[in-house]
Amino acid sequence: MRSSPHILIIGGGVIGTSIACHLAVQGTQVTLVEAKDLASGSSGACDGLVFLQSKKPGVHLQMAMESLKRFRKLQKQLPVPVEFIQTGGLVTIETHEEYRAMKKYVQDQQAIGLDVQLLDRKQVLQREPGLSRRIIGAAYSPLDARVNPISLTLGFALAARKNHAWILTRTPVTEILVKNNRVTGVVTSRGTILADLVVNAAGAAAGKVSRMAGIQMPVMPRRGQIAVTHAGPPVLHHCLISAGYIAAKYNPDLARTAGQGISMEQTENGNLLLGSTREFVGFDTGNTLPGIRKIITEAAARLPALAAFQIIRTFAGLRPYTPDGLPILGPVSKLDGFVMAAGHEGDGIALSTITGELMADSLLDRKPAISLDDFSPERFDSLATDPMLQTDPETWRPAAQAVPQGRIR
Ligand SMILES: Cc1cc2nc3c(=O)[nH]c(=O)nc-3n(C[C@H](O)[C@H](O)[C@H](O)COP(=O)(O)OP(=O)(O)OC[C@H]3O[C@@H](n4cnc5c(N)ncnc54)[C@H](O)[C@@H]3O)c2cc1C
Repeated sequence: MRSSPHILIIGGGVIGTSIACHLAVQGTQVTLVEAKDLASGSSGACDGLVFLQSKKPGVHLQMAMESLKRFRKLQKQLPVPVEFIQTGGLVTIETHEEYRAMKKYVQDQQAIGLDVQLLDRKQVLQREPGLSRRIIGAAYSPLDARVNPISLTLGFALAARKNHAWILTRTPVTEILVKNNRVTGVVTSRGTILADLVVNAAGAAAGKVSRMAGIQMPVMPRRGQIAVTHAGPPVLHHCLISAGYIAAKYNPDLARTAGQGISMEQTENGNLLLGSTREFVGFDTGNTLPGIRKIITEAAARLPALAAFQIIRTFAGLRPYTPDGLPILGPVSKLDGFVMAAGHEGDGIALSTITGELMADSLLDRKPAISLDDFSPERFDSLATDPMLQTDPETWRPAAQAVPQGRIR
C-alpha cells in the first residue's frame, strides 16, 4: 500500500460522510460512493436524538459521551448549521417494575460518570407540565441533545468535499474487486474505481455489501416508523423516550411481547416527531396503519396536548441492527483492505462524530481515542456455526427468530 492510501467509502449516510470528513481534513485521498442521494437511507429517515441515557452502560455509553463532546465543537467545523441543541432528556417511567429497573440502570450510568438522576412525578411535571400524571417518575440528564440528522450528514459531506474528497451520488457499488485475498477496488454503475482500502458504511445494506466480497456480516434492517405533526406551540421542552423504548431496543423478544415504547421530540419549528416501531421486515420502508396508530396512541397517552396537533406525514427508516447492539468497526481480518463501519442500529446519529474520528484514526494506522476491540468484526467469527447470528438471506431478518411481520403489541 502507498504511504497515503486511497480510501473508498461505500455509503453516503451519516457514518460514511463522517468518516470521509474526518479523513479528508487530514489530507487523505477519499472517494465516497452513494447508490442514491446523500442521507437517502436511515440518516434521512430518523429522529435526531443525541441521547446518552439510551446507551448501554459500558463502552457504548463511553462512546456516546465522547461523541457528545465533539458535537459541541462540530458546529464551528461544519459549513452548514446542524441545529445541535442540548435540551436535556427524560426517560419516563410508568410502573414500579420500570422504576426498579431504571434505578439500577441509572446507578450503572452514574458509575461511568454520566450526569443523570431519577426524578419523582412532581419533579418531572415541573420540567414538563404537559406530561400525563400516569408518569410516576423519570430519569433525567441535562446532557441529552438533538441535532438535525440530514443537515449533519450534508454538513459532513460538504466539509469532506471542501477538503478535496470525491463524492459520487447515484452510483451504486455492484461488485467488490478482490485479488490474492486483497480488496483492490469496486465496480460501480459508472465504472471501476481502484482503491487501497474499501470501507463498508452501507448502513442497513452493509450485510448485502459484505456478501459482494464473500464475507458474512450480521447487519440486518430493523424498520422504524415515525409520525410528524404540524408545527404547533411548544408543548415539549426535552427530548423524551419511555423506559420501554430502551428495553425494546436491546431485546427483540421484549419488543414483541411488551411493546416498543415511545420517543418524542419537538423541533425548533414546532413539529413533533413521534416514534417509532422496531420491526424486522426486510428492506420494506413502508408505513403501516397499526404501526402509526400505535405510536400516536402511546404518545397521546403520555402527552395529552397532542390532541390539538395533526399528523402531517409519516415515514420509515431502516436501522442497521446487529445481534449485540454494537456497531461493527474495523478491518475484516479474513480479507485484506476490507473495513466495516456499520451496524449502529438506533444510535448512528448520536455516535457519528466519534465513529468518524475513530475510523479515520484506525484507517490511517493511528491509535484511536477509544479502542475498537469491542467493535471488531471478528467478534462474529462464529457466525457460520451460530444460528443466533445468522441472517435469513431471503427475508434479511434474523434467521433464528420467528418474528411476526410488522407486528406491534
Ligand atoms: C425511525 C428511526 C429513528 C432513529 N432515531 C435515531 C436517533 O434519534 N438518534 C440516533 O442516533 N439514531 C437514530 N436512528 C438510527 C440512525 O438513523 C442510523 O443509525 C444511522 O442513520 C445509520 O447511518 P449509516 O450511515 O450507517 O446508514 P444510512 O444512513 O442508511 O446510509 C447508508 C447508505 O449506504 C447506501 N448504500 C447501500 N448500498 C449501497 C451500494 N451498494 N452502493 C453504494 N451505496 C450504498 C445507501 O443508499 C445509504 O444512503 C434512527 C433510525 C430510525 C429508522
